[in-house]
Amino acid sequence: MIKDIYDVVIIGGGPAGLSLAISLLQKQQLSVLIVEGQFEGEERIGESCPPDTIVLLKQLGVAREFYRANHKTCPGYASVWGKNDVGYNDFIVNPMGPSWRLNRKKFDSMLVERAVDLGANILWGTHFLNTEKTLDGYELRLRNRKLNKEQIIATHFVVDASGATARFAKSIGIQKKVEDRLFASVRFSKILEGTASKQVQIEAVSEGWWYSSILPENRLVTMMVVEKKQLMYLQNENYSGFEKALQDTKFISQRLKKLTTTDHEFYTWPIYSGILPEIEGKNWVAIGDAASSYDPVAAHGIYKGMNDGIEASAKILGFFNQEPKEDFFSAHVKIRYANYQKNRAFAYAMEQRWSQSSFWKHRNEKYASSEVFMVP
Ligand SMILES: Cc1cc2nc3c(=O)[nH]c(=O)nc-3n(C[C@H](O)[C@H](O)[C@H](O)COP(=O)(O)OP(=O)(O)OC[C@H]3O[C@@H](n4cnc5c(N)ncnc54)[C@H](O)[C@@H]3O)c2cc1C
Repeated sequence: MIKDIYDVVIIGGGPAGLSLAISLLQKQQLSVLIVEGQFEGEERIGESCPPDTIVLLKQLGVAREFYRANHKTCPGYASVWGKNDVGYNDFIVNPMGPSWRLNRKKFDSMLVERAVDLGANILWGTHFLNTEKTLDGYELRLRNRKLNKEQIIATHFVVDASGATARFAKSIGIQKKVEDRLFASVRFSKILEGTASKQVQIEAVSEGWWYSSILPENRLVTMMVVEKKQLMYLQNENYSGFEKALQDTKFISQRLKKLTTTDHEFYTWPIYSGILPEIEGKNWVAIGDAASSYDPVAAHGIYKGMNDGIEASAKILGFFNQEPKEDFFSAHVKIRYANYQKNRAFAYAMEQRWSQSSFWKHRNEKYASSEVFMVP
């Protein structure tokens, strides 16, 4: 039963929003509503997580469920980047163990179940449209996608966990500072025959870079990250451009040749690198990709989102218990963004084979001069 007013409304039920709901409700009984635009169980992007994700899962009280769900591990990366030979990066040497390759459906439903068990309410298939400030919080206008029906919900505190587009921040006039816009053309497939490599495979090409990884349940994800102008070519004639570009890769195409795949499904995801100039106010905060979104070449966005959810819960508890924690969370996000900028510049600068191609030229020029955000 959905009420008209909540202590906290979280816009977005991705890893960040769900982790925040759990972290908050573990510590204090507040009324919490999560508003999620997707319907339950819809496809989500991202499966690779670093070994220490388990530390966050323990904090959220779901480590046992995580181990039981039989997510796969990943022994490391094989990449062709900056040179023509394959380089290997092994996780076996990491004391926290191998990195994880998630079954996203199981992972997401584990977080949903935990949040609901602790008392969170979720409105699936419902978009946040806009907001008006009230004397003691905000009124949020929402639309149910199935019924095409609008409703207004009031709240004392809003969390913007709506992903890279930062919908709530935008609606209160805070525009994300976007440094770069790339696109991922993604193909999910089912493996019918053949044994795929357990390593994640990465390959730089003149117009961008490729990523391929097996997924649980014998599925495969293959994607190319490109500039917008290249996207049209990939999507051309029912994605025949994508298939052609994949065949032209030197390394990944050879690995995939050994597999028979079927049921190809194509998606396009934007990749915005950017940060909000204001990440929090007295009674709102942005977390996960809404606060700062990264290029997946240099980041683990799922881990970052969960970590933000846990960190930002302290601000919300401070608000309700009259012990405000001003700008503590923003400082954390800004320092991390500055580190990300350095890592990203380093990763792209390693590739100099196509320094005159638009993709690599733009990235290297942009990132070499990226403004580094300093702690205020
Ligand atoms: C191509 C690609 C590959 C990636 N691969 C990986 C990977 O392997 N590993 C990894 O760690 N990260 C990966 N990432 C990054 C990762 O997906 C994100 O960083 C992570 O999902 C961020 O979590 P979040 O909860 O902040 O945002 P999201 O996961 O984007 O969740 C935001 C939620 O808000 C909802 N929403 C948006 N607008 C509204 C609205 N108006 N009303 C209601 N709901 C709304 C969306 O439906 C969504 O469910 C990848 C990203 C891309 C683009």
